[in-house]
Amino acid sequence: MNSLQHRGQEAAGMAVFDGEEIRRKRSMGLVIDAFTEDTLRDLPGTIGIGHVRYSTAEGSHDYNIQPIMGFVGGEMIALANDGNLVNYRILRERLEEEGMMFQTTNDTEVILYLITRYYNGDIVEAIKKTMGVIQGAYSVTALIKDKVVAFRDPHGFRPLVLGEDGEDVIVASENAAIEIIGGKMTRNVAPGEIVVIDENGIHSDHYESPATPKHCIFEYVYFARNDATLDDVNAYTFRRRCGEILWEEAPCDVDLVVPVPDSGIPSAIGYAQASNIPYGEGLVKNRYMGRTFIKPTQKERDMAVKLKLNPLGDVVKGKSIVLLDDSIVRGTTSRNLIYRLREAGAKEVHMRITSPPVKYCCYYGIDTPNRKNLIAANESIKEIEKSIGADSLAFISEEGLVRAGKKEISKYCTACFDGDYPVDPTVI
Ligand code: SF4
Repeated sequence: MNSLQHRGQEAAGMAVFDGEEIRRKRSMGLVIDAFTEDTLRDLPGTIGIGHVRYSTAEGSHDYNIQPIMGFVGGEMIALANDGNLVNYRILRERLEEEGMMFQTTNDTEVILYLITRYYNGDIVEAIKKTMGVIQGAYSVTALIKDKVVAFRDPHGFRPLVLGEDGEDVIVASENAAIEIIGGKMTRNVAPGEIVVIDENGIHSDHYESPATPKHCIFEYVYFARNDATLDDVNAYTFRRRCGEILWEEAPCDVDLVVPVPDSGIPSAIGYAQASNIPYGEGLVKNRYMGRTFIKPTQKERDMAVKLKLNPLGDVVKGKSIVLLDDSIVRGTTSRNLIYRLREAGAKEVHMRITSPPVKYCCYYGIDTPNRKNLIAANESIKEIEKSIGADSLAFISEEGLVRAGKKEISKYCTACFDGDYPVDPTVI
C-alpha cells in the first residue's frame, strides 16, 4: 500500500479475512501512520484488500474511508474502489426511497448495496448486473470470505493490474505495488473484466456489453508513478516523449531546461535531449510533502507548494530557463514558482506544459476543481502567460499528447482537455 501512497494521502484502510471473519482497520492519514506493527498484528490472515484515499466529490470524513463493509448472502464483504460513478446521486436517491440507510457519502456504498441486492448465490452474476446499472469510472476490489473479486468498468478509465509473487496473486492500481514486494506484473485487468481469485487460482469473466477503452490520459501525464506501465504504456516513457514533442511544437532558446519535480523530470529530460540544451535541477523538492494537487483547500495548496519546492539559486542565477511541468490547473503553482525562480536570479522563465490546457472538470475520479477555478477555462493562453508571469508559455497539443501514448486517440479519455466525455456526466 505504501507504494501506492501517491494515489491518495488523506486516509488508508485494510480488510483481511482471518479464516473466520473479515477484520478491518481504517484511519485518516498516511499508510505508515495508519498501519503500525501493532495494527498489523490485529489483522492476521493471508487474503485481504487495501485502499488509499483522496476525497473527490464526497468530502474528507472518516466514515468515507475504504474498504467499506457489509453482508452479501449472509457473508461479510469488504469493498474498495478507485473512480467515480456519474449516476451516483440518482442511484442513491432510488435506494434511499426503497429504505436503504447509507452510512457514508461514498459512491462505493452504492456499488455494495447493488451487489447485495442482485446476489443470488453467484457473485459474478451479481457484479454483472451491478455493472449494468452503474455508470462512470470504477476499478473495484472486493473481499468475500476467502476470495477476492476485482472488476473494472467497461471503458477502463482507472488502471487495474494483475501480478503474482510465487503462489500469491496480487491485484493493484499500479505495477509498483506488485514489483516492490518481489512479484511481477502479469497483465492488465481488461476493461469490463471480472477476475475472481481464490484457492483454485484466477478465473476471468466479462461484462456482456463491451465498450471502447477510454483510459484516463491524465494518469500518464501526472497521476501514476514514473515506473507505472498501465495498459501497455509506461508513464516515464510517455512523459519523456511529451518533452521531445514539446520541443518540436514549442522550441525555446534558453540556457537551461528545468523540471518541476517529479512528473516534470522525464519530460524535461526529453526536452533537453531533443534540443541539446543542458538539463539542470533548478528546484529542490521536499520529498516528505504530499501532492499539492490533491490537498483539499486553496490555503493548504499554497502552503504546500512553498514547503514542497524551493528554487536553487546556484543553478538558475543569471540564466534563461524553460520550466517543464505536467499541467496548469488553477495557475497558482506556476505563478508561485516563476516568481520565486526570478527572486532566485533566473533571467528569463519560459514555461512548457506537457498537457493541453485543462478546460473541463473530470467526473471520473480525478479531483479537478469547478470550471470557474480552472484558469484555462476562463483565460486565453496569452492571458495565462501574463497571469503567471512567464516570458512565454506553450502547452503540448492534444495530438502531440496522444502521439506520446502511441495509441489512437479513441483509446483515451481526454475529456478534461476537450470536453468530449465518454460517459455522459449530466446524469448527476
Ligand atoms: Fe482522466 Fe481527464 Fe478523463 Fe478525468 S476527464 S478520466 S482526468 S482524461
